Amino acid sequence: MVINMAAGSSEAELQHVIDRVIECGFQPHVTRGAERAIVAAVGSGGSRMALEALKAAPGVEDVVPIAHPFKLVSKIVKSGRTQVDVGGVIIGGEDAVVIAGPCSVESREQLFSTARAIKAAGATLLRGGAYKPRTSPYDFQGLGIEALRLLREVREEVGLPVVTEVMSTNDIQLISDHADMLQVGARNMQNYDLLRQLAKAKKPILLKRGPSASVKEWLLAAEYLLAGGNDNVVLCERGIKTFESEMTRNTLDLAAVALVRELSHLPVLADPSHGTGKRELIAPASRAALAIGADGLIIEVHPCPERALSDGAQSLTLEEFARLMKGLSAPIRSVATAQEAARA
Ligand code: PEP
Ligand code: MN
Repeated sequence: MVINMAAGSSEAELQHVIDRVIECGFQPHVTRGAERAIVAAVGSGGSRMALEALKAAPGVEDVVPIAHPFKLVSKIVKSGRTQVDVGGVIIGGEDAVVIAGPCSVESREQLFSTARAIKAAGATLLRGGAYKPRTSPYDFQGLGIEALRLLREVREEVGLPVVTEVMSTNDIQLISDHADMLQVGARNMQNYDLLRQLAKAKKPILLKRGPSASVKEWLLAAEYLLAGGNDNVVLCERGIKTFESEMTRNTLDLAAVALVRELSHLPVLADPSHGTGKRELIAPASRAALAIGADGLIIEVHPCPERALSDGAQSLTLEEFARLMKGLSAPIRSVATAQEAARA
């Protein structure tokens, strides 16, 4: 249930509602807008009838049920869209962001040359895997702590905030000490223990969609993070498994990007690298993602893709990335903005 406070209602009236929500057996999550506050009552086992009766409480405008199983990620509980600050870069604001970098951190030279080049091309965040979720145990698993140290160093020197994946609850503190944003990879989207621990982390989370996850399951995974206290969540569509398995690695579900913008206040990125698996599809898929409303992109870049230790086939060269950035011009972004304006 959502309790919409009336514009101009007092702090005391809001506090009364919060107290009653707790008495009724629910947890209150308060969102304060410019004009009014909204109290989401979440949890199970409480008395819904008692909550509905709050319609009669002073300062309450309305009490409405939340139709979806996800609550705190729903647009209903928040007016306006969430903006997530990642080391000073805003995701979900006016400008689309581009996160770029290698799939895996492989060496100092590889990381630094990539970071300098993507920054010069206009990317505002650096990605690079230290701990890699590989399908085969015989494939390169990442440099671990050595990669984290390199990421921290390159962040200081090049000045780009860093995004890297966390696979285990054991590594959350260590990675939080080295990176600005923690990525939950597609394979871990439904690792609920990891999500519960990340809800308590002090860093923003990039939550990738699982390869076989429905939009509802993806938003419920995000709900774990918000319900546990971490509001700084960015969603990322990275392609799902479909019957097409030969010609593309995954199927980039761009309709899902538009859909989560309808359903949720959280920002959403697209990952055309994993979403297509093919270098030649990255540029058109990137343009399409921004046109449909993505708040930004995450793209794999490598100085020499043929030598990459992971995901070389979908990695752009430094030159290809610079060309891609030139093609992602302002008019593309304004298409998405214009569509939104038309809907408003
Ligand atoms: C990655 O970003 O390199 C990665 C492994 O992504 P995903 O979890 O989407 O496969
Ligand atoms: Mn990768």
